[in-house]
Amino acid sequence: MEIDIAVVGAGFGGLGAAIQLQRAGFTDLLVFDRGDDVGGTWRDNTYPGCACDVPSHLYSFSFAPHPHWSHTYSGQPEIQDYLRDCADRFGVRPKLRLRHELRRADWDARRGRWRLDTSGGEYTARVLICAAGPLSEPALPGIPGLDTFAGTVFHSARWRHDHDLTGRRVAVIGTGASAIQFVPRIQPAVERLTLFQRTPAWIMPRRSRRVTRLEQAAYRHLPGAQRGVRAAIYLVRDAMAVGFLHPTVNRVAARVSLRMLRRQVAEPRLRATLTPRYAMGCKRVLISNDYWPALTRQNVDVVSAGISRIAADGLVTDDGTHHPADTIILGTGFHVTDPPVASRIHGRGGRSLADAWAAGMQAYRGTTVAGFPNLFFLLGPNTGLGHTSVVLMIEAQLRLVVDALRHLRATGATAIEPTAEAQRHWTEWVDRRMRGTVWQAGCASWYLDGNGRNTTVWPGYVTGYRRRLRRFRPADHHTVGGRDRNLERADAV
Ligand code: NAP
Repeated sequence: MEIDIAVVGAGFGGLGAAIQLQRAGFTDLLVFDRGDDVGGTWRDNTYPGCACDVPSHLYSFSFAPHPHWSHTYSGQPEIQDYLRDCADRFGVRPKLRLRHELRRADWDARRGRWRLDTSGGEYTARVLICAAGPLSEPALPGIPGLDTFAGTVFHSARWRHDHDLTGRRVAVIGTGASAIQFVPRIQPAVERLTLFQRTPAWIMPRRSRRVTRLEQAAYRHLPGAQRGVRAAIYLVRDAMAVGFLHPTVNRVAARVSLRMLRRQVAEPRLRATLTPRYAMGCKRVLISNDYWPALTRQNVDVVSAGISRIAADGLVTDDGTHHPADTIILGTGFHVTDPPVASRIHGRGGRSLADAWAAGMQAYRGTTVAGFPNLFFLLGPNTGLGHTSVVLMIEAQLRLVVDALRHLRATGATAIEPTAEAQRHWTEWVDRRMRGTVWQAGCASWYLDGNGRNTTVWPGYVTGYRRRLRRFRPADHHTVGGRDRNLERADAV
């Protein structure tokens, strides 16, 4: 089947793309998703306590305010409902092709189209928008013996709701944003909870509260009030980037965190185990009021020794201790710097994106990639954020995508891709901006790839990113057809 635009992923990025493209008049599009519902990461992560640590007014589309948020920071079910509602409200449902996993995409230079092989059939599209999401592929730890474990193992993003944890001896591996949310929820039910911590997290208080009926009514009847609140949150949150760009500023926040730790954990040994020894912000700063208190309960052990192997009936640490368990929950994160979707996308000359990114992910303005015509990546390289809402980044990228497609239409060109030079300049600039930031302060984190380069986080303010993406820049691109035939020349070399 021939379509104009193929969007891969029906999470915030893919739904946002479908909505904004349709509003801009690009209606011949389909949204493919391997799942059976919209929502992306908010569909997949259903673990107990799953919630967002960005305020809801900002963690939502600017063009689809939601007056009914029950809390200032929402839980997963409410965010998932919001995305379903957006799909309905903006007429995206007919465009959805659920249970259609992208198996392979090939750029057909002769026809100037992408050939798409999905689990639901074959399609061709002029434009491919990849909104597969940076946090969609669970990373499983390569600990020896994991496959010999006789009990139940699952990843936090694939929660086994059919496996009752009541009275179980549960081992949790990982202490990232996911684990710190589900640990306090499961702790009261389990018989024993053994938490394997490799690196302690910096944690700040979670300042969520119920949104009153009065506030909801105000947002319903005076949309300007909600826009005002959103704008205020935007400014305050974006200003928080300063602590990441100039790490000394974060020392004040670190004191708040350590004070909370002292208040919540009285026992000196446990407190020492939980005390981070690296610059705050180098790894993602977490927010929780109940994680540290849960670890002080009788039925919890925090183990900081490394896991050497997994046996049929438990985990063995480097000091030789055997920790019995009948369930292992992996809160071990995602493939962020090596997204599996990259090995499925093949651009000019049949080269895969994984190959193009073998030395590290890079994309011009985090969105387009040299050698991959008419491919737009949402939340691509260096567009992640530690301080505010990635929905803002998605919306900035969508404005750029619409502008690029309008340019194609206006010039009669059939394809565009960034020049290698423009991409290199952009990447060098990002790398320069990264120097001196807290992410380069020496800790190991998922922000860094195998070469130690930060290919995930935007090293600045959202405002700066939006400004840089305001307009499509023809001079930084090769085009096919229309007035400029550069790409054919590029193809020849
Ligand atoms: P994560 O932040 O990558 O955390 C993974 C955890 O697993 C880390 O503690 C890591 O230890 C540990 N780990 C990984 N491999 C291990 C191994 N082989 N042995 C022992 N420990 C191992 O993953 P996540 O918690 O799922 O969060 C991922 C991202 O999703 C977050 O950073 C955030 O961007 C997003 N998220 C957001 C929210 C929210 O908004 N509240 C909630 C959940 C997730 P090290 O630290 O030592 O590497």
